[in-house]
Amino acid sequence: MTARYCLACGAPLATVSEGGRRRRRCRRCGWTFYANPVPAAVAVIVVGGRVLLGRRARPPYAGTWDLPGGFLEAGEAPERGLRRELREEIGVGVRRASLIGFATDRYGPRGFAVLAIVYRVVPTSKRIRAADDVSEARWFNIAAPPFSEIAFPGLRRLLRRYLESPHR
Ligand SMILES: [Zn+2]
Repeated sequence: MTARYCLACGAPLATVSEGGRRRRRCRRCGWTFYANPVPAAVAVIVVGGRVLLGRRARPPYAGTWDLPGGFLEAGEAPERGLRRELREEIGVGVRRASLIGFATDRYGPRGFAVLAIVYRVVPTSKRIRAADDVSEARWFNIAAPPFSEIAFPGLRRLLRRYLESPHR
């Protein structure tokens, strides 16, 4: 995904090379489209040997399984965004959240770059209610989650590594 017009002045952008990277820059005002990743906060919730996945209700990858969570709003700290998204999508609070790691992906095959900040979450309740961007939430045995039906490769790798880790 790239930008065609300047977000500052509206002029068409030109492709320039900068330190070996191709960027889109405005010839009129100098504004540059860096295509930096957009941060998201997502949750690995494991209870009694099962991990919770949500089915994506919307594109991209509608119908695939995903970790609950979503994009941060401007000015929102990651854990705060995580709490908001879990409340919206699966109707639970966060009792405890600890950072597991990061996953880099694209939002769709030709989508913008995403940086997922991944937390292990202990929810306030096991009673899950799918809503908003999640059409269905389901608990899967951690020995056999549907990895092939998780569309984001970076997130899939991180989840697999985490669930197979003896230190989990
Ligand atoms: Zn401009």
